[in-house]
Amino acid sequence: MAPQSVPAAITIRKIRLTNLAMDDVLNALHAAIVKRVATRVAFVNADCVNIAARNPGYLADLQAMDWVFADGIGVKLAGQLLQQPVRANVNGTDLFPRLCEEMAREGRRLFLLGAAPGVAQAAGDWVLSTYPGLVLAGTHHGYGPADELPTLLECIRLAQADVLLVGMGAPRQERWIQAHAAATGATVVMGVGGLFDYYAGNIPRAPLWMRHSGLEWLFRLLQEPRRLARRYLIGNWVFMMRVIGDRLRGNIRGKS
Ligand code: UDP
Repeated sequence: MAPQSVPAAITIRKIRLTNLAMDDVLNALHAAIVKRVATRVAFVNADCVNIAARNPGYLADLQAMDWVFADGIGVKLAGQLLQQPVRANVNGTDLFPRLCEEMAREGRRLFLLGAAPGVAQAAGDWVLSTYPGLVLAGTHHGYGPADELPTLLECIRLAQADVLLVGMGAPRQERWIQAHAAATGATVVMGVGGLFDYYAGNIPRAPLWMRHSGLEWLFRLLQEPRRLARRYLIGNWVFMMRVIGDRLRGNIRGKS
């Protein structure tokens, strides 16, 4: 059987995903940092696609990103069904240590914004002890009141971050990025969900074998069944039904 060609970008439910391997993502981010090209990044998994289906504002925020990457097994399966193969699972949690390693080599500046008070700082402490050359330009929790926003933006601007990670969960972080990234002056701004909780050691990550077999969602579900049952047990099926519907509609259109 001839190998399926892998497109440079694929579209799933009106969301255009940049279809790069992890190494290429790192190279592209590095180039953006060096040339100081303002770059807004999001990661989209099956749950994000479901949120976008009922929240047009979030869909628009995703569509306005420079790069959106395919995160997780659900999006990969959707790509197969839609005959648009996803090249790699590019999620923020796996990208983060590699990005830090690269930033450390060049003494780049990182700002962490989001999660409960103390969590971003704890994640930052982990970064500093693991990647000593990197500069932690600042951290802030993700629960600041609206009237403190101008001060926060000024604080990030003065920190002169090469990379700003915004970990407030979807769709809040994508809204924040589209509304405020320019005011921060940071070159690369990425929405990273619960990433700081992992690296602060608050939430364990799935073992490698589960991640490699597409079962990270199951691990997360077992960790937090009450909060995540709806998202995964119902959400994954809703997502697949939506994609199968798109596939069937595509076939019908293709025949007419
Ligand atoms: N969060 C935040 N501000 C808010 C609401 C949430 O900083 O107003 C943080 C929350 O503490 C957590 C992250 O956003 O660290 C969202 O985590 P979630 O597991 O929902 O994100 P996922 O990784 O599933 O996208």
